[in-house]
Amino acid sequence: MVEFRDVQKFYGKFHALHNINLQIDQGETVVLIGPSGSGKSTLIRTINRLESIQGGKLIVNNQDLSNPKTDSNRLRQDVGMVFQHFNLYKNKNVLENVMLAPRIVSHIPEEENKKQALHLLDMVGVADKAHNMPAQISGGQKQRVAIARSLAMHPKLLLFDEPTSALDPEMIDEVLQVIKKITSASDMTSLIVTHEMGFAKEVANRVIFMDQGQIVEDDDSKSFFERPKTDRAQQFLSKII
Ligand code: ATP
Ligand code: MG
Repeated sequence: MVEFRDVQKFYGKFHALHNINLQIDQGETVVLIGPSGSGKSTLIRTINRLESIQGGKLIVNNQDLSNPKTDSNRLRQDVGMVFQHFNLYKNKNVLENVMLAPRIVSHIPEEENKKQALHLLDMVGVADKAHNMPAQISGGQKQRVAIARSLAMHPKLLLFDEPTSALDPEMIDEVLQVIKKITSASDMTSLIVTHEMGFAKEVANRVIFMDQGQIVEDDDSKSFFERPKTDRAQQFLSKII
């Protein structure tokens, strides 16, 4: 589903990703952790081309992102992203936020689109807010709408960049529960950047630990949390847990 081969990312002269080699298979739920500035957002953003790469090869859903001819819009139909700050369309109500992309991109009939949107809103527990504007719902509800909006395009891969970091503590769990529900659905592949270690332990098949633009550990979740192999990961875990 995703393959990085010796991928390099530079911001000007700053070398943000060093020789990234990583393969993620369909159906995996992978959690990406590491200290601030280690390159987690950069890595995840290269996968839907919000960041370009400067070396190596990156294949996502059989599309070669190192090839300038690859169509980013086509790529993003299969790769959804959920951001820390929700990024809802502020001037559209909840239902419209979910219906917009399928209408414009997939041209699905309006009634079918509405039915699907209401179903997704129900799944994430905000169907009763369908006609509210984003400013009229809580942070946890906004993030759940953002998740429903991503799902409306039936992505093969979902990327989450710190989906709960902007939330008040009492709203974190409701969003994590929704993510857990989605990722346990059979075919979905997801890559999640999070600082919620309890959640990471619960949902991840696999943990990737980054530091200073490099992948330092890549292991199954149980092994990683029970016996991190490197000092860097041990130190990180001892600070965060
Ligand atoms: P955090 O946990 O704080 O979100 P992160 O692991 O997501 O951190 P990134 O945002 O990927 O880290 O940043 C990795 C490095 O690249 C940092 O040193 C950061 O300062 C640098 N960086 C990120 N974006 C840019 C940019 N647009 N221009 C220049 N440098 C950048
Ligand atoms: Mg980040």
